[in-house]
Amino acid sequence: MTQTSKIRTPIVCVLGHVDHGKTSLLDKIRGSSVVDTEAGAITQHIGATVVPIDAITQMGGALSKLTVSIPGLLFIDTPGHHAFTTLRARGGSLADLAVVVVDVNEGFKPQTIEALQILRNYKTPFVIAANKVDRIHGWRVQENAPFATTFAKQNERVQGIVETKLYELVGKLSDLGFNSERYDRVRDFARNIAIVPTSAITGEGIPDVLMMLIGLAQRYMTENLAMSVEGPGAGTVLEVKEERGLGTTLDVILYDGTLSVGDEIVVAGHTQTITTKVRSLLKPRPMSEILIEEKFERVKSVTAASGIKVAAPKLEGVIAGTPLRVIRGENRDAVVEQVMNEIQDIQVTLAEE
Ligand code: GDP
Repeated sequence: MTQTSKIRTPIVCVLGHVDHGKTSLLDKIRGSSVVDTEAGAITQHIGATVVPIDAITQMGGALSKLTVSIPGLLFIDTPGHHAFTTLRARGGSLADLAVVVVDVNEGFKPQTIEALQILRNYKTPFVIAANKVDRIHGWRVQENAPFATTFAKQNERVQGIVETKLYELVGKLSDLGFNSERYDRVRDFARNIAIVPTSAITGEGIPDVLMMLIGLAQRYMTENLAMSVEGPGAGTVLEVKEERGLGTTLDVILYDGTLSVGDEIVVAGHTQTITTKVRSLLKPRPMSEILIEEKFERVKSVTAASGIKVAAPKLEGVIAGTPLRVIRGENRDAVVEQVMNEIQDIQVTLAEE
């Protein structure tokens, strides 16, 4: 992957009602890449999956002729509201973008509505995957095809059902105060939410979901994403885990800057900050090396966005969902104070819940 641009990878969360297909969608996105290694391998991170831009454009979804500067997309492997709201960053959510999955045959359910409200509160751009289109009676499957290709192959009756179901979703969204349209009819993405018909099982429409996310990042977020790969690292702790031979480790999503072995970092305990030094940075071994005894591969340095395991002394007592910051040169007091403020914020939020 070419890394000439200084734009970091946007972070994506998948939300929606239980059983509407969040896990299947993530599995499909991960799987599609394993097959297509030539297009730039999809890489497994700690708690996340990165899909490079080359892999996305080769899938041939809408907009694939767009010139893009976004290096790819990082999907958080854990779907749902919980991951979205507890993983905080910069006072908001860790996620830059979201996908709301809704079963097109069932329509909106309580958790769909909750997801939309959360995204509105956080002002997070999102697309809607109108999922399980393959369940429409008479649907003819075109494995992994972009929506336009597969839609053209369906008979009039099936096409009519798709349109009706989508209009029901558009109506519901309008009741909730959102303007929306089928994604290929959206003219202004700042005003209209794009709805992409998908099947998480057959892969239909998935290329379009990925391209829509790239489009949203490209148009509305490049300023936020620009240049943030070079500064001192900032991340959020996904999990605190004991690992044999490593002691207490942190699974971290790095959303900003660079994190290296030897860096001094500040993390959050229950009541105070903890300052320590990174001993090792670990990522999952690629599938091809699965026979090697060690579960992890050691790396010297990572840039945003990445999912990485951090080993360091004094990590017992760190809480999941709290920040990790790199101290570099002058910024020590400011960084410690920032982490302290975030601990206080989190305690206030917990007290309110
Ligand atoms: P989650 O609870 O939102 O993560 O939903 P899952 O991904 O676990 O999916 C729930 C069930 O719906 C599983 O049995 C999936 O195989 C099935 N499913 C998910 N997406 C699709 C789809 O697009 N088409 C079909 N036919 N089944 C799906």
